[in-house]
Amino acid sequence: MTHAIGISPLVEPVRGACPHDCPDTCALLTTVRDGRAVRVQGNPDHPPTDGVLCTKVSRYTERTYHPERILQPLRRIGPKGSGRFEPVSWDDALDDIAARLAAIAARDPEAIVPYSYAGTMGQVQGEGMAARFFHRLGASLLDRTICAAAGSEALVHTLGAKVGMKVEFFAESALILIWGSNSIASNLHFWRLVQEAKRAGARVVCIDPRRTETADKCHEHIALLPGTDGALALALMHELVRNDWLDHDYLARHTLGWEALRARALQWPPERAAQVCGIAVQQITDLARDYGTRSPAAIRLNYGMQRVHGGGNAARLVACLPALTGAWRHRAGGLLLSSSGHFPLDRAELHRPDLLGTRRPRTINMVTIGDDLLREASREFGPKIEALIVYNSNPVAVAPESAKVVQGFAREDLFTVVLEHFRTDTADYADYLLPATTQLEHWDIHLAYGHTDVLLNRPAIAPVGQARTNTDVFRALAARMGFAETCFSDDDETLCRAAFGFAVPFDELLAKGFTTLALPDAPFANGGFPTPSGRCEFFSERLAAMGLDGLPDHVPNHEPAGSDARYPLAMISPPARNFLNSTFVNVQSLRDIEGEPLLEIGEADALARGISSGDVVRVFNDRGSYLCKAAVSPRARTGVVNGLGIWWRKLGLGGTNVNEVTSQRLTDLGRGPVFYDCLVQVAPLASGRT
Ligand code: SF4
Repeated sequence: MTHAIGISPLVEPVRGACPHDCPDTCALLTTVRDGRAVRVQGNPDHPPTDGVLCTKVSRYTERTYHPERILQPLRRIGPKGSGRFEPVSWDDALDDIAARLAAIAARDPEAIVPYSYAGTMGQVQGEGMAARFFHRLGASLLDRTICAAAGSEALVHTLGAKVGMKVEFFAESALILIWGSNSIASNLHFWRLVQEAKRAGARVVCIDPRRTETADKCHEHIALLPGTDGALALALMHELVRNDWLDHDYLARHTLGWEALRARALQWPPERAAQVCGIAVQQITDLARDYGTRSPAAIRLNYGMQRVHGGGNAARLVACLPALTGAWRHRAGGLLLSSSGHFPLDRAELHRPDLLGTRRPRTINMVTIGDDLLREASREFGPKIEALIVYNSNPVAVAPESAKVVQGFAREDLFTVVLEHFRTDTADYADYLLPATTQLEHWDIHLAYGHTDVLLNRPAIAPVGQARTNTDVFRALAARMGFAETCFSDDDETLCRAAFGFAVPFDELLAKGFTTLALPDAPFANGGFPTPSGRCEFFSERLAAMGLDGLPDHVPNHEPAGSDARYPLAMISPPARNFLNSTFVNVQSLRDIEGEPLLEIGEADALARGISSGDVVRVFNDRGSYLCKAAVSPRARTGVVNGLGIWWRKLGLGGTNVNEVTSQRLTDLGRGPVFYDCLVQVAPLASGRT
């Protein structure tokens, strides 16, 4: 194999960045021999990575050279969803795609919808050239809400932006609340810091409906019911007030709306919250005492808890806590949900929204793609969706309420183009399936949401087969559609440079592969929150101006546990440990570890239904049903089942996965999904064990 232009035939490992949707954003070192990547390791010089990768990505070469990798453009020859394709040349594919998009755009460009998310977190192969293309076209905009929208809005309306503690200082904390995070599985490098803190005497408490691998290793696990985190936070505030474990000076100088929040918290004695959360009163009072008296106290919040109706309010309540005790005064105190708001990303330069001119296209919410693909044109909705360009995403597997998503993708009058590495569930519905490069084959630049370093990803190998970068595909389509703006000629290195402009030293990135943002160790020790008031906003004028409650409150689930006798179990669907959403499901060695799709169910709930471990069970509600194997396990508390995801439908049981039963309803803030706000019933299959 020859090296592509710009790829140096280094014997030394090539510096890169992990592209996956994980807070750790590891620095990679790829060893290349004779043009072939033979090893991917963590960069020992990058402090957050410290030379260690998770199991998933340490097997990256297996994924890159996977025998089922798509190596050439394909055109559909069977019915939608059949996965039957014929090879086609790039030129023929791009000519036809451009012609069909142009014909639709001539009627109404908003009938074309991009669909993408975090298949890569790279700023260049993500929306770098794609956003320019769709803006110039005037296509519908996409609300990229499927993971973190409610929590993100919550941070913006409380702290002012997606900002928080520097992760490295968790190692110095005296108390760590791991709230809604299975860190061992999905934030591995943070867990290393927790262990350091533990060795130094820190107390570690896990708050999670599921008894995760992380919960196993904490001093205490509080297994609250899904969607009740806000009630717990209010009761903690109640106890902080009652015992005067408050930093009155910090409250007076650096917060807004304390009296109102105090009054609300006093409505939530631990007894009330204990009933709502399904936990013991003592767990709440003990936790409040720990939080009020151990300093510095740090909260690692994660996004699982905000995938419920009240997720935005709940995240707001948790984000208020450090200001009550003045935990922000210490570099090892405060909260971290996301650090991405610290990065000076120049989105306008990269995405070029100016190419829209005066047009203001409608916005499609990616969470409701099932419903939206089935909508007819109307004044309220706009044009029927006629074309969908999917990249960095696998909506047929990951979007909620699969029955509707599949029905939408199966529309014969929908023109679908999918840029992918593999024949995913979504790829099966493509009219054109275009082979995409992996992270080892292209340039990219990354910010992080779990630390504060920028990373550069250099290509280590030439594209495998006929794979092309996302940027290259959108450049080629732009050229065919006559988009003459010079920004469509920018190469990928230029796009990498444009992402942060002069705010980040690009020479350092070229030389070292990463650079650390210059930030204060304790960013809010003296207030200075990036809110309109400069304070931590318990009360948000901005939310009040939108007609919402300016003060956070407990907002019950759309489907609260115990509210429907037909569906008595609350289901959450956290990722299986060796998968990352639907990525890696087709990597055989990882799938072998996972075995089959599992539903964890507590002993009492299993007994009541005559279910034993290993039984195939049907999980169902009014939206649909899916099949999986039962694991009778203490990881599931009574009344809650854990449907581990996200299996590709075609690799699961009966061609189904967990999203058959999840709903398209939205969160209170951010229009996000409510994957963990889902009531079901579970029954053994008549056929019994397999
Ligand atoms: S998935 Fe996360 S832990 Fe694994 S290599 Fe990527 S960034 Fe690191």
